[in-house]
Amino acid sequence: MSYLILDELTKIYDARSGERAVSDLSFEASKGEFVALLGPSGCGKSTTLRMIAGLEDLSSGRILLDGTEIHTVPPDRRHIGLAFETYSLYPPLTVFENIAYNLRAKRVPTKEINHRVTEIARILGIDEILYAKPGKLSGGQKQRVNLARAIVRNPALLLLDEPLSHLDTVERRQLRRELKRIHHETRLTTVLVTHDQSEAMALADRIVVLHDGKLQQNGPVIDVYRFPANLFVAAFIGEPSMNFVDGWQSGTRVDLGDSMALTTNVAHKGDVTIGIRPDDLAFISPGRSAGSDRALRGIVKSIEYLGDETHVVVETVGTTSPSVIRIGGEPQWPLEIGETVVIEVRRFHVFERDTGIRIDTVEDNPSRVSDMAIADKRKGKMREGSDE
Ligand code: ADP
Ligand code: MG
Repeated sequence: MSYLILDELTKIYDARSGERAVSDLSFEASKGEFVALLGPSGCGKSTTLRMIAGLEDLSSGRILLDGTEIHTVPPDRRHIGLAFETYSLYPPLTVFENIAYNLRAKRVPTKEINHRVTEIARILGIDEILYAKPGKLSGGQKQRVNLARAIVRNPALLLLDEPLSHLDTVERRQLRRELKRIHHETRLTTVLVTHDQSEAMALADRIVVLHDGKLQQNGPVIDVYRFPANLFVAAFIGEPSMNFVDGWQSGTRVDLGDSMALTTNVAHKGDVTIGIRPDDLAFISPGRSAGSDRALRGIVKSIEYLGDETHVVVETVGTTSPSVIRIGGEPQWPLEIGETVVIEVRRFHVFERDTGIRIDTVEDNPSRVSDMAIADKRKGKMREGSDE
């Protein structure tokens, strides 16, 4: 059975407007799992976390932790560890006393406090600064102390709300790597709220994507990347982001305009949007031809050398709507701006334009059947979910 269950959570802040900050949100986490709640600013992530923590009432729905309903239990009896983006450490107390504060309040014996604080400090790499005052610490060190306070009580659940977003790039990278190791060591069931898709991808086992308070997709990191359930997820996840080209499908043929077409697996009729990750496009060297059902033509607009890879921006030619696409990986010959190129499409998704739902993924070497089956099952769920 799932350890954490969110069952049709809804939050309406203002009864008059009836606007739903979170709308019928359901997802689960198994014990020890690291789940990222991902979505743009204002999509309801913090509201969801605050409902789990008990800082916000539910408008409707249920929350279960380890088989018990907790949404009716007072916040301090839910055994939840919380760390937010902004930390409020007590300036006059040492790091040690900041971490020990809640344990002392609960009258945990001194010997055990010493043991637990020392152990947590080791795990978080702050044993050297245990007797410093918060004023002397860097942003990264303060956030580590903040995390230590959340973890030291050995909570049944750890909730993190954008804990890295205050930090500068170097500290953020460092603490991100650390968080992964800390989770490996503590095995605490964790829900991380973030708007940063690369953070979610790097840290989580599973990603729950939210948009406008509604669930978009819930799946293992790889699935969400390789089989995005809809256009929103496709555009939100991946850096550089997915390319999109409009088309019209009839049967298994998608017309992109000007005699350009792609062949799909699943028959369909209507307006579609083709999604292609930059890494799934490759230049065809002059003189070689691509299968006619797998090629795009375009004009080179810019070339960005990024060191370990190169991105070439191309404006498609002959497509119904001119699309600017980005291609990862370097061509084997010098390219020039203004040059006409032929690009092979190695893997692409077909999204129904109206609903945004992914209806097909076409690739040379199909992913494992189980992946496809899982993705297709989810697609079915998305269909049900999108009817409201
Ligand atoms: P996120 O954390 O994903 O940025 P929030 O959960 O903070 O999003 O907010 C979701 C929606 O609920 C937003 O439209 C926000 O303006 C609204 N909201 C958040 N907190 C409150 C509140 N205390 N009162 C009224 N509306 C709120
Ligand atoms: Mg938030």
